[in-house]
Amino acid sequence: MSSLAVCPGSFDPVTIGHLNIISRAAKLFDRVIVLVMVNPRKSGLFTPEERVDFIRRSVTDIPNVEVDFSDGLLADYVKEKGAVAIVKGLRVLSDYEDEFKQALANKKLAENVETVFLVTDAQYMFLSSSVVKEIGYFGGDISDFVPPAIKEDIIKRIRER
Ligand code: ADP
Repeated sequence: MSSLAVCPGSFDPVTIGHLNIISRAAKLFDRVIVLVMVNPRKSGLFTPEERVDFIRRSVTDIPNVEVDFSDGLLADYVKEKGAVAIVKGLRVLSDYEDEFKQALANKKLAENVETVFLVTDAQYMFLSSSVVKEIGYFGGDISDFVPPAIKEDIIKRIRER
C-alpha cells in the first residue's frame, strides 16, 4: 500500500522554507498532499485559490506532490484521504508549543495518523510568509524567499492590496 502524507498550512504565500519541507516530505512518502487551510486566527492576504495556484506552480518538478484546499478540520481530511502522516516544519523554539498542542489534538481526533516534524534547514530558520509580505509591502527584494516562478505575481498582488 502506498503511503500518503499531508502538509497543511496557510501558505499565505508559499515560501522556499515551505518548499524545503514539502520536497523532503516527498522523499519520505509515496504521495504528499500540500493542503491549504483556513486559519481562524490569521486573516490572509491571498485568497485560497491564489495560494493553491502559487503552490501548484512551485511544485511542478516534484511528481508525487498534489495541492488541495480544505475549509474543514485537518483530522477529518486526513482520515478521509487515508493519510498515514501529517508533516509539519519546525523553525525556532517558539513554533514548538503550538505545534505540540495541535499534534496532540490531531492524535485524539485521528488516532492512526502520526504528526511528523521536520526541522528546517538552517538557512530558512527565520523565513515565514509574514516576512515575505512585510518585505514585499515595502518594495524590498523577495527573490531569496519565494520560488522564482511566482515572485512577480506575489509582488504584483501585494502592491494591489
Ligand atoms: P507560517 O507560520 O509561515 O504562516 P504556515 O501556517 O503556512 O506558515 O505553515 C505551514 C507549515 O510550514 C508549518 O508546519 C510551519 O512550521 C512550516 N514552515 C513555515 N515556514 C517554514 C520554514 N521557513 N522552514 C520550515 N518550516 C516552515
